[in-house]
Amino acid sequence: MIHEILPVGPLQCNCSIIGDESTLQAMVIDPGDDIADVQGLIQKHSLQVKQIVITHAHIDHVGGAMKLRAATGAPILINENDYALLKMLDVQAAWVGMAGPAKVEIDQALAEGDKLRAGALEASILHTPGHTEGSVCLYFPAQRKLIAGDTLFAGSIGRTDLPGGSFQKIMSSLHQRVLALPDETIVVPGHGPLTTIGDERESNPFLT
Ligand SMILES: [Zn+2]
Repeated sequence: MIHEILPVGPLQCNCSIIGDESTLQAMVIDPGDDIADVQGLIQKHSLQVKQIVITHAHIDHVGGAMKLRAATGAPILINENDYALLKMLDVQAAWVGMAGPAKVEIDQALAEGDKLRAGALEASILHTPGHTEGSVCLYFPAQRKLIAGDTLFAGSIGRTDLPGGSFQKIMSSLHQRVLALPDETIVVPGHGPLTTIGDERESNPFLT
């Protein structure tokens, strides 16, 4: 598995570029900003992007999606419970002091249990509401890797005080879905350093 993790934009959202080494098919997850740098990594590995996957519709995760779609022709995938947030990207931009991006269009809805493929790589979609109603995680079972969006961080969890957030829902998503994964699973959070399910199970103050 080719896996580049690039922190993008003023909020340093972890954008993942994941490619299959033999077919060079790829998916890009959360291209929030700095699309020229994302494209640089795509070209470095000669990847062909098959899909652009958004873990949730906050501007720091979705802000560069249209630019990347224009450059690659790949469809944008997002859970439909975040459509309402997508319609208020200009409001979100004002919260974080960013320029509002052009309207983001969705090409394909992502739902619980969907399988996303790039060559031989396969990820399952876990619908994990709480940080937002449409938050999803991508789990690559063969690689024991979870792209967690803003649901789980090293030592913390996603905030739930923004519109669409729910502390009850994020706790239930974490306990029923995320902590159900094996301890050795590597977690790539939406911001900050990598961790593992085992480490978070043991020491995350929100989960112990
Ligand atoms: Zn977020």
